[in-house]
Amino acid sequence: MNGPATPRRIVIAGGGTAGWLAAAILTRQLGPFADVTLVESDEIGTVGVGESTIPTVRAFHALIGVDEREFMQATGASFKLGISFENWAREGDRYIHSFGDVGQSTWMSDFHHFWLEAQARGVAEPFGSYCYEHEAAAADRFAIGGTPALNYAYHFDAGRYARFLRGKAEANGLRRLEGKIDRVVRDTESGDITTLILDDGTAVAGDLFFDCTGFRALLIGEALGVGFEDWGDWLPTNRALAMQTEATGPARPYTRAIAHDAGWRWKIPLHHRVGNGLVYCADYLSDDAAHARLLATVEGAALIEPRLIRFRTGRRKAAWQHNCVALSLASGFVEPLESTSIHLIMIALTRFLQLLPSERPSAAAIARFNVQAAQEIEGVRDFIILHYHLTGRDEPFWRDRRAMTIPDSLSDRIALFRDSANAYQADHDLFRVASWLQVMLGQRLAAASHHPLVRLMPSDQLRSALRDMRTTIARSVDGLPSHQVFLDGYVRT
Ligand code: FAD
Repeated sequence: MNGPATPRRIVIAGGGTAGWLAAAILTRQLGPFADVTLVESDEIGTVGVGESTIPTVRAFHALIGVDEREFMQATGASFKLGISFENWAREGDRYIHSFGDVGQSTWMSDFHHFWLEAQARGVAEPFGSYCYEHEAAAADRFAIGGTPALNYAYHFDAGRYARFLRGKAEANGLRRLEGKIDRVVRDTESGDITTLILDDGTAVAGDLFFDCTGFRALLIGEALGVGFEDWGDWLPTNRALAMQTEATGPARPYTRAIAHDAGWRWKIPLHHRVGNGLVYCADYLSDDAAHARLLATVEGAALIEPRLIRFRTGRRKAAWQHNCVALSLASGFVEPLESTSIHLIMIALTRFLQLLPSERPSAAAIARFNVQAAQEIEGVRDFIILHYHLTGRDEPFWRDRRAMTIPDSLSDRIALFRDSANAYQADHDLFRVASWLQVMLGQRLAAASHHPLVRLMPSDQLRSALRDMRTTIARSVDGLPSHQVFLDGYVRT
């Protein structure tokens, strides 16, 4: 790396969501400290999906100076309060994993212990009814601000989002090159990447490289030979068919994830259209059958034909190797059931900036980055496996998911809940206790017992405490406009 007086030359290979997020934050936060160049190939194009997010996106947007209205207008965005899981534990089941906290917890025991006790005494309403975001989502209502404020994320159009980010990065001095990367040149002594050679012969030299080339992983995989840890035994879905349709009704403030006999399908309502997709495992469902099934289940006229995307679940053994940091699909992938990939890009970029080397990246900094990246994606992996493993569905695909051996980290967590109803958020966990609980209970995981001291609470006290919570939430939800009405007004004013 050059000394501090000279701007570092940072090269971003790839212009999908990962590449443009990197470009947006590096140009904004590093300023004169770096010269940033992005290379992308229109001919190759992007994966073109990735439209559902989680609330952390808003903190990242603040770092890159996004004006929310401008962003929503530019990307056709809608608001998101959670995900509706349908047909997962059984056909006909439905639960919403919302972004909110459920009930009020005490220092000693989380709210759900009181709820389980109330359930045993026959005085509890469904778990989600003690959560503001859950109830607002179920009623299709939404507003920003107010007390309490809803915790929310967005659905947006991936193609428009990349263009929006490009505008931001270019305004901050990013240099964009259009062309296909033909070769990656490495220093024979250090092994570092020195230059990307494009197919027209252009040489793009750099001190630090971001591999955002998608599943191709041109730099981290092909050039540096970093291996891939395959998680296909736990998460065997390996294909998605994606298509866009016209909206047929108001946009709901949540993503739908609807299980079918060999995977699940998504429905993501944007402001101007709907994103649809069918995720499946090719060992259990043929491409033709998947195609027919998707077409049979979408509502609204097709805006594009279904597009097949093949993927592999797992992670790169090192996300940062030498002077190359791999982001998103190039560094690993877990299916989009909980909309986590864009978050993982954002958290990786934030961490990179926190560990920013002043000279050559140190081995210690690289190791720290890699350990955290591994823990984060493994946490997401466990959370996704939970949805598949805790099922009573009876088709071969689901029977196999129920019977499979799961990672110890997850089986310990399930055992803890089964024994004592305890759940926790580990240091590296993205998902909070409320998330684990909503999914565990939604997938019908039952606890043999709960915290013994909640039994001391008199029934009338327990009943009135729960009733007061519900009344407060219901009153707040009643005061909210419909999501569609709020959205229409918000992006136009
Ligand atoms: P890509 O979009 O594939 O971009 C790769 C870039 O590299 C392109 O610009 C391409 O042109 C360029 N490139 C490749 N090779 C070359 C070359 N030789 N020369 C020059 N340029 C090259 N995430 C979420 O958070 N929420 C979701 O709801 C969600 N849904 C998903 C659904 C599916 C089916 C899949 C597969 C993923 C989903 N994801 C989701 C993940 C999300 O799509 C990705 O995290 C995100 O799009 C980032 O992709 P990327 O930029 O790494 O790759």
